[in-house]
Amino acid sequence: MEKTFAIIKPDAVERNLAGKILARIEEEGFKIIGIKKIFLSKNEAEGFYHVHAERPFFPDLVAYMTSGPVISLVLERENAIKKWRDLMGATNPEEAAEGTIRKLYGTNIEKNATHGSDAPETAKFEISYFFNALEIHP
Ligand code: GDP
Repeated sequence: MEKTFAIIKPDAVERNLAGKILARIEEEGFKIIGIKKIFLSKNEAEGFYHVHAERPFFPDLVAYMTSGPVISLVLERENAIKKWRDLMGATNPEEAAEGTIRKLYGTNIEKNATHGSDAPETAKFEISYFFNALEIHP
């Protein structure tokens, strides 16, 4: 069993899509072992996305991620990191495969509905950034 970290981003929470996305996550065989709704501060969002600090879109990304509450998740299943990336689809919803969450619910390359860790080290950092051990229940 592998764990990954996911976020239902502000655009999706704002449009009341969280329920549909959570249902899809469970239907696809993930167990939701951690879940909480939070409203990130600028500092918290910058820390989370530190690897993108030099990218031109970084200020926009931080503004977007602090524009409303998000739902943060720890997901568990076999091969969870790749399976969740596959289920989300490509970063740009226009390029995402049919049926993927970003294709269904994303608005544009920035407001793309969900986040998912891209590697085991990232998943470890991201889970610990949002959750402590007492908040995760396999
Ligand atoms: P991900 O791993 O598929 O989420 O993609 P990245 O790690 O490359 O980018 C992180 C997040 O930054 C994406 O999910 C988008 O919300 C945002 N993003 C990525 N590329 C762009 C871009 O070219 N412009 C803007 N405005 N946002 C972007």
